[in-house]
Amino acid sequence: MSIGENIKYINGLKAQAAEKSGRSGDDILLVAVTKLHDVDEINEAIRCGITDIGENKVQEIMDKYDHVDPVRWHLIGHLQTNKVKYIIDKVSMIHSVDSLKLAQEINKRAIQHDLTMDILIQVNSAMEESKFGITTEETGQMIQDILETCPNVRIRGLMCIAPFEDDPEDARVYFEEVKKLYDEYGKIDHERLDFKYLSMGMSNDFQVAIEAGSNLIRVGTSIFGARDYSK
Ligand SMILES: *Cc1c(COP(=O)(O)O)cnc(C)c1O
Repeated sequence: MSIGENIKYINGLKAQAAEKSGRSGDDILLVAVTKLHDVDEINEAIRCGITDIGENKVQEIMDKYDHVDPVRWHLIGHLQTNKVKYIIDKVSMIHSVDSLKLAQEINKRAIQHDLTMDILIQVNSAMEESKFGITTEETGQMIQDILETCPNVRIRGLMCIAPFEDDPEDARVYFEEVKKLYDEYGKIDHERLDFKYLSMGMSNDFQVAIEAGSNLIRVGTSIFGARDYSK
């Protein structure tokens, strides 16, 4: 199937899952994950209606940025503090904030560019060793610390990468746990906390994630096909 057909297919599944949780497909933002895919494929996806793309490496954003048609860029992978400066003026949201130190570096660079950066806090609700993110217990304190020390950072919500399960149903509990935090901390009344995004769900588990409350899914393989890691 073509990239356009894949996007249409995913939008259909997205709408079905949304309806199961009393919402519409339009309430769920599809971020096309373009890592290891080339500029032509990305521009084709944009022509087919994609408005938001996600990359997990700073270097790939830098390489592609000038060659991709206008679109919103999301940094979705682990971000080292020394690389924030390269993408601070390129991305519209950073999904993977997992330490106060990183938030403070984002804040510092945002001040230099006279902008406010939207971020999500990455929660590792399954506590997988192999994944980045803070624990559910640390989330409240992290939010408080960022609000207190990062005037040019706005917290827009939470992000979670569930463990890969053969049966995506098994990931539901991890999504539900983060949804609970999202509802709880979204109530905080602060000018720099404006929850709008719960970023959960990838190719293998986005329907379950939506049913559990996600409103932003990050989908790569189901749009572009398998990635070639040998490149
Ligand atoms: C690669 C990646 C995705 C997309 O994964 P697929 O299985 O290809 O849909 C989503 N989120 C993050 C953080 C990723 O690194």
